[in-house]
Amino acid sequence: MSIVDLHCHVFNADDVPVKGMLQARNAPDWVAGFLDKVLQGLTKDATKKRSASNSISDQEIVDTFKNVMDCDYPDYADSFQDYLDMKDSGETCEKKAVVRKLQLPHFQGYIEWLMLIVRDHRTIIRKLVKQFPDINLFVPLIVDMDHWLENDSANVSIADQANILEKISREPEFSGKVHGFVPFDPYKQARFYKTNEGSAPLSIIKKAIENQGFIGVKVYPAMGYLPVENKKFLGMQYDEFDFDRAFDELFDYCQTNDVPITTHCSPGGAEAYKRSGFWGNPGFWTSVLEKYKKLRVNFAHFGGAQETINSYERSWAWNIVNLMKYEHVYTDLGYFTPICNSESFSKYREFFKTLVSKKPVAFDRVCYGSDWQMIVVEANQKKYYQKMKEVITDLCNFSSTPGKAFEGIMGKNALTFLGLDENGKNYHRLKAFYQDRDLPFWLS
Ligand SMILES: [Zn+2]
Repeated sequence: MSIVDLHCHVFNADDVPVKGMLQARNAPDWVAGFLDKVLQGLTKDATKKRSASNSISDQEIVDTFKNVMDCDYPDYADSFQDYLDMKDSGETCEKKAVVRKLQLPHFQGYIEWLMLIVRDHRTIIRKLVKQFPDINLFVPLIVDMDHWLENDSANVSIADQANILEKISREPEFSGKVHGFVPFDPYKQARFYKTNEGSAPLSIIKKAIENQGFIGVKVYPAMGYLPVENKKFLGMQYDEFDFDRAFDELFDYCQTNDVPITTHCSPGGAEAYKRSGFWGNPGFWTSVLEKYKKLRVNFAHFGGAQETINSYERSWAWNIVNLMKYEHVYTDLGYFTPICNSESFSKYREFFKTLVSKKPVAFDRVCYGSDWQMIVVEANQKKYYQKMKEVITDLCNFSSTPGKAFEGIMGKNALTFLGLDENGKNYHRLKAFYQDRDLPFWLS
């Protein structure tokens, strides 16, 4: 049995407009400000922004964090010391009473997240693999939020991020463990139609898929775009740039070449502006799938765990499952930490029971995902995999074949979605990618 995490991330502070992203996710102001100062502190040459891609020692990071806390956030310095003591003793916040002294909500989670994203990619991926030793294949999704978050942009281009991940995925330590998704931003492609400057964003995607071991494309409509009819729904600003043409070209390429797409699909997450999460609504994909019936689409986050618990009837999960009448529509359980809590789980369980009684196809299309490293801010994240295994086992009891349903959700469905069975084009592309190296067992 293969276990696949269909939705994770391994970016660092150079890859994403981190300040804009934190604000877009409603992180407390101190988190973004603190990170900025830490990054400056880690800069050898203060005139240049530090490159997170250079490896730095744990001690150097701790010293810098401590220094910034002491100088700029003295009120939190005790909390930080408590956090370090706790970390040294290997305790988690659930066990240790000392955490009650921490003065800020989610302090520990944010500090852990921040400590992670100032690291180089290799260190981050190593941590991911170590934290979830049972997972056979991780699918990190690169995101492109560059254009959409005001006054902030990423330091490292998407092409370079793809090069870094390719390099790591070829190293013996990580061979067969990580194959990423490369992001598509319709704005960048539409700008290219207009200006013809630089290389076409779609050519970066094609190179990643065809030569660099990437197995899909990530889109993030909550930034403020749609897969279709942008002018109609989003207005005049889309006159100048033809987003629909850009998406058409992407869909055409993906359908012809069996390239899977993951689209962010929960009302929450990173919103470029208030309520822009709405553009992630799966309903906007109906006409896309009507036109491209063979398109492989994964609606990430299954409409959002918390949103579903809050309102069953209006949950996007229903729309997603309705779209499963198309052959290659899937969904992942990324950031399902809310159902790791027993009270919330019992509510979710009721919803799921109703859902699969009407649409049993869901058992063949739901895929395990974590959304790690985004979940690192959550208190229970270290036990995410174990807890999810328990709740998925429980949910599979609603199937007439629980064992088969469990195998499907934990990995088999994802492998089918990814086209990694013998009929899939990704299967053949990856076989070429491995060439003279051993094939991972999930591929052979
Ligand atoms: Zn994600």
